[in-house]
Amino acid sequence: MESSTHVALLSSPGMGHLFPSLELATRLSTHHHLTVTVFLVPSHSSSAENKVIAAAEAADLFTVVELPPADMSDVTESSVVGRLAITMRRHVPAFRSAVSALTSLPSVLIADIFATESFAVADEFHMAKYVFVASNAWFLALTVYAQVWDKQIVGQYVDQKEPLQIPGCEPVRPCDVIDPLLDRTQPQYFEIVKVGMDIASSDGVLVNTWDDLQGRTLASFSDRNLLGRIMKPPVYSIGPIVRQSSSKKGGSSELFNWLSKQPNESVIYVSFGSGGTLSFEQMTEVAHGLEMSGQRFVWVVRAPTVRSDGAYFTTGDGSEEQSESKFLPEGFLERTSEVGFVVSMWADQTAVLGSPAVGGFFTHGGWNSALEGITNGVPMVVWPLYAEQRLNATMLAEEVRVAVRPKELPTKVVIGREEIAVMVRKIMAEEDEEGKAIRAKAKELQRSAEKASVEGGSSYDNFAKVVKLFGKSVP
Ligand code: UDP
Repeated sequence: MESSTHVALLSSPGMGHLFPSLELATRLSTHHHLTVTVFLVPSHSSSAENKVIAAAEAADLFTVVELPPADMSDVTESSVVGRLAITMRRHVPAFRSAVSALTSLPSVLIADIFATESFAVADEFHMAKYVFVASNAWFLALTVYAQVWDKQIVGQYVDQKEPLQIPGCEPVRPCDVIDPLLDRTQPQYFEIVKVGMDIASSDGVLVNTWDDLQGRTLASFSDRNLLGRIMKPPVYSIGPIVRQSSSKKGGSSELFNWLSKQPNESVIYVSFGSGGTLSFEQMTEVAHGLEMSGQRFVWVVRAPTVRSDGAYFTTGDGSEEQSESKFLPEGFLERTSEVGFVVSMWADQTAVLGSPAVGGFFTHGGWNSALEGITNGVPMVVWPLYAEQRLNATMLAEEVRVAVRPKELPTKVVIGREEIAVMVRKIMAEEDEEGKAIRAKAKELQRSAEKASVEGGSSYDNFAKVVKLFGKSVP
């Protein structure tokens, strides 16, 4: 591919958007030798984020442009999606200025799903317009099809008696509908419906999944009798795009020293993503559940909050002061000191999951985390908290069967310690048919992900196809 093709990538704030966007930029630059400029909207409230951006700049594989902050002082919207949409809308003028200041104009814009209003800038500069969906194909299908539900369905989606239909896809249980669509009177509802329409008006969509995992859903996009009726642009499954670990496995930190002394596949890694938090009561149950399970664990702990997405824009990296003993059960740290390792706020997740000692993942089911679990071949306890995580949990636990999940939603009830201990033992230790099958399926899915990514694999080929098209776009 000619090195002259210049791609602009625009990422919205939040580690779940930033990480996959940077990884996509890395691949476009290193595997396909494209010139890449990544435009970022930092949240400026997360030390982990600052470090990630600094590392991307230092790697010097592509140009990083941080857009200046927009004035948000009058914004009262508190939902994550609502704020993200407003933030990105207000950054359009800064994006326009930054693009026009470039010495060579990109011929392609790849926007993440909250950055599609930047398509107006792409039109002005005659750039091809692509969307990068860092989540999976079922989520994409639902987002695009929301414009049809919006016209057809009366009342709240969550109150429907029957599963919601999407042509050619698994129906969606009302309780699994993604957070921003739960209340049709809220601004974030309209934002997501609009995002779906913007996606359908793009030149192409890159989605972080692969054919073997979501073949039926992906096929629906290209069938004019199914989702292809409203989704005109081609959809390229190019995943799993998973971040490479920033530190060497078994590096020198206390955590990795500890991990290096644990038996293979004996440790469950517990983390609720970049934004997930638990209530005080729930945290107590998780602590006792881990202890009762008798399994070794690494737990990334954040102070309890009432909201389940309480850390979304504010994740630290452990360098901040936080005293776990104030909110963990009395004596927990002492009693579990031989078998457990508590990490404050933030861990290098891909490095932890890549450690031979880790044999299971207790996750909120954010799509990046799910892919990181899958590519490391570990079975999961999936504990959905916000965004599209209930959808992901249903897919992972009930369809693909690489995970177990609580019987009820952790955002509705407090899940008790006994149930937690049973789930942890099920994926880590149980020799019953179900436990064994889940572990075997996790290894099988890891192989399937690898196969899709190597030369001749579906994602490898799709990536090459779309890069070729980029080369034909002329600004
Ligand atoms: N992450 C991490 N350390 C942590 C928590 C999260 O490195 O302590 C990373 C994780 O590896 C993933 C991203 O942050 O790449 C979170 O994205 P995901 O889609 O899983 O969930 P979100 O945070 O967007 O809800």
